[in-house]
Amino acid sequence: MGCVTALGDLEQIITGFDLWYLELPVVSVRDHGIGKVAGHCEVIVLRLTGEGGAAGFGEASPWAVFTGSPEASFAALDRYIRPHVIGRPVADRCAIMADATRAVAHCTEAKAALESALLDLEGRILNQPVHTLLGGKVRDAIPLSVSIADPDWGRDEALLARLRDDGVGLIKLKTGFAGHGFDMMRLERIASDWPEFSVRVDYNQGLAPESALRQVKEVAATGPDFIEQPVRAALSDAMAEIRASIEVPLLADESVFGPEDMARAIREKICDGVSVKIMKAGGLRRAQKVAELAAAHGLTAYGGDMFEAGLAHLAGAHMIAATPEITLGCEFYQARYFLREDILETPFPCDGGEVVLPDGPGLGIRPDIEKLDHYAKVTSHG
Ligand SMILES: [Mg+2]
Repeated sequence: MGCVTALGDLEQIITGFDLWYLELPVVSVRDHGIGKVAGHCEVIVLRLTGEGGAAGFGEASPWAVFTGSPEASFAALDRYIRPHVIGRPVADRCAIMADATRAVAHCTEAKAALESALLDLEGRILNQPVHTLLGGKVRDAIPLSVSIADPDWGRDEALLARLRDDGVGLIKLKTGFAGHGFDMMRLERIASDWPEFSVRVDYNQGLAPESALRQVKEVAATGPDFIEQPVRAALSDAMAEIRASIEVPLLADESVFGPEDMARAIREKICDGVSVKIMKAGGLRRAQKVAELAAAHGLTAYGGDMFEAGLAHLAGAHMIAATPEITLGCEFYQARYFLREDILETPFPCDGGEVVLPDGPGLGIRPDIEKLDHYAKVTSHG
C-alpha cells in the first residue's frame, strides 16, 4: 500500500490531540430545578488530527450540578484519555473508547467528546457523514424543542414570540425552581396566550418528595406532552409512585445516564420514557443503546442535551438521525437561542422548527478555530 493511499484510510495514526476550555457568554438566565446558569457556560472542545492532516472535533458539555465539572472533563481528556489516543490508528475507535472507559471513571461528557471526535475524523477520511457511520439516518430533520426557563416571565414571553415567528412548535417549561404557583401561572398563560405550542414540563429534580405527587397531578391536569424528572435521581420509589398516579407520560432524565441505568429504570418501573443525551451516556453509541433498550420495553425516547454549543448539538443530531427509537424530537436550542455567539463556522442548521441534518462528511460543520482561541480560558496542545 502506497503512502498516499495509507493516509486516506483508517490505518493512519492519530498524531494530534488539542483541547480548548471555553467560557461562552450567554444572553439570558436559565433557572432549573437543580441550579441556575447565567453569565456564561463552559464547554471543552477536542480536536484529533490524523497523520494525513484530517481533523475531527468533539465537545464535552458538562454541568457541575448534573453531570460533573468542566475541570473534570478537561482533566479526563488531557491527562487520562490522551495516552490512549495518540499513536493509535483511526480504525481503533471502539478499542479506544473501551480504553477510555477504563482509564477514568464517570466523566461521561469527556467520553462523548472523544467518540464524537473519532467519528468526525473517520467520516472526514472516508467522506461519509457521522450518521452513516452510526448505521444510517432514518430522518433528515428533528423537531426542535426550546426550553422556557427564565425566572423573568416577561423575557420568556418575548422568547415565545420569537419562537412562534421561527416556526418552533415545541417548548419545554422548566418548573420547580420558584414555587408551584409560578409554574401553574405560566402553564395557564401558555394555554391561554400561546395555544400553538405543544408543552413539555421538566422539573430537573426540583420537587420535594413529600409534596411532589400533589403538584405533579395538578400540572398533569393541564395536559402536557410529558412531565420529566420531578424528584431527585435516587428516589426511584417516588418516581414509580408518580408514574403510576398520572395519565401523562413520566420521563426520566437525571435518573438515567447510560444503558445500565436504563435497565434498572425498566426493572423499577420509574418512567414511561427517557431523555437520551450523549453527555450522560458517555458517547453516541451508548446513547443509541439507551434508546434501543427503552424501546424494547415499550418506552419512548427524547433527544435531550446539556448547556451545549453547536458542536455537541451536531453530534447529538447525527446520533438521533441514526436512532429510530428517539421519536420525541430534540432540544438543541442553545446554539441559536442561548449563546451570545456559537463556535461553528456556519450556523447550527435549524429551519421551520426543526434541526436539519447536514450531509457533508463527518459532523458536517467544523468549529471556527478563531472563535475557539478567542473564548479559550485554558488550552492544551499536543
Ligand atoms: Mg431534563
